[in-house]
Amino acid sequence: MSESAEITENMRQKARELNIDLIGAIPSELMDEFAGMEVNWDRWGTMKSPRDYLPDARSVVVVAEAAFGPTIDLAVRRRGGWNYVGYKPLELDTWEIGSYLQSLGYQAEVFPSHLSQKNMARLAGMGSFGKNTLLLNPDVGPYLRIDGIVTDAPLEYDEPVEADLCGSCERCLQACPTGALQPFEIEAEKCLVHQRLQGPDDVRYAGLLEQYSPRLASGAYLMCQRCQQVCPVGGIPPWERDGTTDPVSH
Ligand code: SF4
Ligand code: SF4
Repeated sequence: MSESAEITENMRQKARELNIDLIGAIPSELMDEFAGMEVNWDRWGTMKSPRDYLPDARSVVVVAEAAFGPTIDLAVRRRGGWNYVGYKPLELDTWEIGSYLQSLGYQAEVFPSHLSQKNMARLAGMGSFGKNTLLLNPDVGPYLRIDGIVTDAPLEYDEPVEADLCGSCERCLQACPTGALQPFEIEAEKCLVHQRLQGPDDVRYAGLLEQYSPRLASGAYLMCQRCQQVCPVGGIPPWERDGTTDPVSH
């Protein structure tokens, strides 16, 4: 077995022990295409290259876990930044994989937040973009949370699987409270997540923020999930996802 095949198999075995849902890897240079792109959730930020995280970058490991229910998008404001509490288990598992690569003698930079998470998961074959601009996985729809590791470890790489999972469906376009979505495009300034994270900027959205992004406690908000909740991809009925009635009807 080649060195890259052996490391990859051992890393996958480690992921199985941690109950990680999906793990994959891509050549790091594939992410260079997105460097410099504006980051929707960070007004002043742009996407980076894996080499900005690790000059000797060779591979990007993609770690993904399915998570359901409105509390996965519970965001808490702390020290001027936002923390998504529901992402913590994934972050801990990703740290474990990063530590494992380091224990083999490789460099590993965990959570490269300014790499395009959705694109690295797409390139690793974990799903395709939906009209809601989220990554849709055939098994869990848009409910895949994604993290990554930039490493100099040589790995076996996955291939993208391009599939149209939307077909003629337009439920997310119709359900978005602000009309922020066009097929496969989002007008970030209109999105309630962007409005909540940034400010909000526009008083026109105050009422909709109260309805779709409610405050739970001081500095703690649920983020709008309408374009996820109405998505039929993934086979898990909406009423099992969030305990409400069919979200399309309200
Ligand atoms: S998160 Fe809400 S406001 Fe933003 S695109 Fe989705 S449905 Fe629209
Ligand atoms: S709701 Fe329909 S159109 Fe929107 S992402 Fe899901 S399948 Fe695609």
